[in-house]
Amino acid sequence: MNLRPPLCGRWLILCFVRFLQGYRGAAIETDAPFLLRNSIFESVSRASRPNIAFNIMANWYCYHKFIIRALKNAMRTVICVCFSVVRRIPKSDGILLTFDDGPDPNVTLAVLDLLRQYEAKAIFFICGRRIENAPEMLARIVAEGHVLGNHSFAHWGRQDTPGWKEYANDLKKCDEAIAEYIPEPVKLFRAPHGMLSLAPLLASRKVGLRYIRWSIDIEDCDIRDNEEAKRRGEILARQAKPGDIVLLHDDHPYVLEILKIVLPAWKEKGWALDSWHLLTVLP
Ligand SMILES: [Zn+2]
Repeated sequence: MNLRPPLCGRWLILCFVRFLQGYRGAAIETDAPFLLRNSIFESVSRASRPNIAFNIMANWYCYHKFIIRALKNAMRTVICVCFSVVRRIPKSDGILLTFDDGPDPNVTLAVLDLLRQYEAKAIFFICGRRIENAPEMLARIVAEGHVLGNHSFAHWGRQDTPGWKEYANDLKKCDEAIAEYIPEPVKLFRAPHGMLSLAPLLASRKVGLRYIRWSIDIEDCDIRDNEEAKRRGEILARQAKPGDIVLLHDDHPYVLEILKIVLPAWKEKGWALDSWHLLTVLP
């Protein structure tokens, strides 16, 4: 007897799974389900129905943002599946830390010190045009056992992305700029802003780079003070699970506060923080 569901059924199940993955991504980014649970719990404990409504209304912006993100994440997941873009490392026993937009002469140095302290290895997605700011940093990243990836040379904005052929030439330029620091060609790529438009998707295939996106983005670039950095660090430490790929930026000083919270927390749980080991089990 054939127990496999019909094709349309399998597609429906797949879509539902993708939606749940998007839901989880948005939950991590906004922390909305956690806030909702807390606000309802507080209201119920005070036994006042208007209070529940008030709290839900008060947090409306957060939930609205959450729903939009859940839908966008679901759409992105479908594109990632179609173009073999890596967003998670299933069946892995660790968390893959990735840093975009470096090297930065000050922040990258401090990030490397923290990673060394907790014996963590990460992927640094290098922006080609910033190498001249801190060329010595690339040698140190490689010497300390981290992986270098291509983050484009020009770091195109969302509005000025060129056609895929020009994009491919820009990726080659970045590869060449990184090549003098590593013995083997660069294999990994992340588009600026994690864009999933045709230009980066086609260009990375043409140049032979594997596109690695992320499953968790806590928007560390928007943090403006230590308190906010600590709050987001705690969300990240609580919500990340083995198999997650975490996006951070090593050109932004508040990333250090986040690392000081998450690295000891994950280390205590016994999770692997070794990019080379995790890359061997890439889907
Ligand atoms: Zn970037």
